Amino acid sequence: MTGTDTTWEYAPAPQEQGIVAIKPHYGLFVNGEFAPATDGRTFSTLNPATEEPLAEVALAGEADVDRAVRAARTAFDRVWGPMPGAQRAKYIYRIARLLAERAREFAVLESLDNGKPIKESRDVDVPLASAHFFYHAGWADKLEYAGYGSTPVGVAGQVIPWNFPLLMAAWKLAPALAAGNTCVLKPAETTPLTALLLAEVCQQAGLPEGVVNIVTGAGETGAALVGHPDVDKVAFTGSTEVGKEILRSAAGTGKKLTMELGGKAANVVFEDAPMEGAVEGIVNGIFFNQGHVCCAGSRLLVQESVADALLDRLRRRLGTLRLGDPLDKNTDIGAINSRQQLDKIRELSDSGEAEGAHRWSPPCQLPERGYWFAPTVFTGVSQSHRIAREEIFGPVLSVLTFRTPEEAVAKANNTPYGLSAGVWTEKGSRILWLAQRLRAGVVWANTYNRFDPASPFGGYRESGFGREGGRHGLEAYLNA
Ligand code: NAD
Repeated sequence: MTGTDTTWEYAPAPQEQGIVAIKPHYGLFVNGEFAPATDGRTFSTLNPATEEPLAEVALAGEADVDRAVRAARTAFDRVWGPMPGAQRAKYIYRIARLLAERAREFAVLESLDNGKPIKESRDVDVPLASAHFFYHAGWADKLEYAGYGSTPVGVAGQVIPWNFPLLMAAWKLAPALAAGNTCVLKPAETTPLTALLLAEVCQQAGLPEGVVNIVTGAGETGAALVGHPDVDKVAFTGSTEVGKEILRSAAGTGKKLTMELGGKAANVVFEDAPMEGAVEGIVNGIFFNQGHVCCAGSRLLVQESVADALLDRLRRRLGTLRLGDPLDKNTDIGAINSRQQLDKIRELSDSGEAEGAHRWSPPCQLPERGYWFAPTVFTGVSQSHRIAREEIFGPVLSVLTFRTPEEAVAKANNTPYGLSAGVWTEKGSRILWLAQRLRAGVVWANTYNRFDPASPFGGYRESGFGREGGRHGLEAYLNA
């Protein structure tokens, strides 16, 4: 604090990076071992906060994917499929414990590779990933009580996005393994490192070879995996566009499918809502993880009578968010994951202005290097604007207003997606009334972005089908 200035500056609070040893090269994890791609191809993964390369990673081609699927098949037939559930559980518990023990290492690596703030990777991504393994380990010897039979499907081909790299890997692997399946997982091309560290944890846990295989690469590698004739079950999390492509290619093959796709959720605030709480929920809903969240509350629907007052508070709150170094423990908003995603966010935000919405961001200094986007709020948004219809997948909030509960329902449901929604009101009856009418897989009441391994998550319509988590999530990995 200086002179008449009454604001206190935060001192830097950097997370120590030495806890993680990043290797210059990473191989594919097939049949319990790391190996280069058959044709020797590699790709780089960057730190999006600095644009500096972190490591070279093997790029899996068709031959590598085939090797991984064959390893998974052999492990399924000979070891993992026939193994009693209580025995499988021991390995899954071991993975959960090792993840918890090595939590800080995973958190630092996740923030470096993805750009998310360390406080999020440390307090959300890694503990939840560990919790998923703990939760599903408990199911492994109780499958007959889940109500979906106890016969595993076989080899699962699993493709995940870059927004929660480790957590999405845990969502895919934990239920599959608990149900007795073996896996070939493909992480996203911009964030392969924590999945490869998880492969090391599988080795450390003594997991039999071939039970988990990890093939790295981009869309081509993913397409080779989901199209492989010996994959019995395809689990995909990613964009609706790619999801549709996979559905077309899998049609008629008899493969079991689950699709966790995009979203454009409404966060609905009524005039009787506790305003401070609602403001926190709005901030969490759209600015958590830079808005790279499939269930982000990207459309704020606020009752007209309180709109001005609420937006006033929201703007003041956004002025306190700290954007910058993901490894600083005080950072609220980290880097955008890639140049490509930054371009997409910019293009959609520019379209918002061009179509007549009013754009606002708090004063905020963006670092010179790396991929950054200031938290942004659009008011005066109409339902026909692209920023009200398309998934931006960035820190951009579109604000719309409503007068009656019926209008709120109509506007909230006016989207091809159906993944999540939020409702803020002090009336329990109104929560239930609204929840019954919202076409969304998850409805949060007076909170947002709450996740628990015991709670099923998933969407319908263009947000996909199938559930992950909870008893329901086991269905995808069992044959009745
Ligand atoms: P994306 O669809 O571009 O990529 C997702 C994954 O699919 C990546 O690993 C990618 O390499 C792979 N891929 C690309 N083309 C492929 C193909 N033809 N065949 C097989 N695999 C292919 O999505 P993204 O940009 O990485 O992720 C953002 C999207 O993911 C958003 O739309 C977001 O809403 C969605 N998402 C959904 C959930 C959910 O649970 N519903 C969770 C997280 C993210």
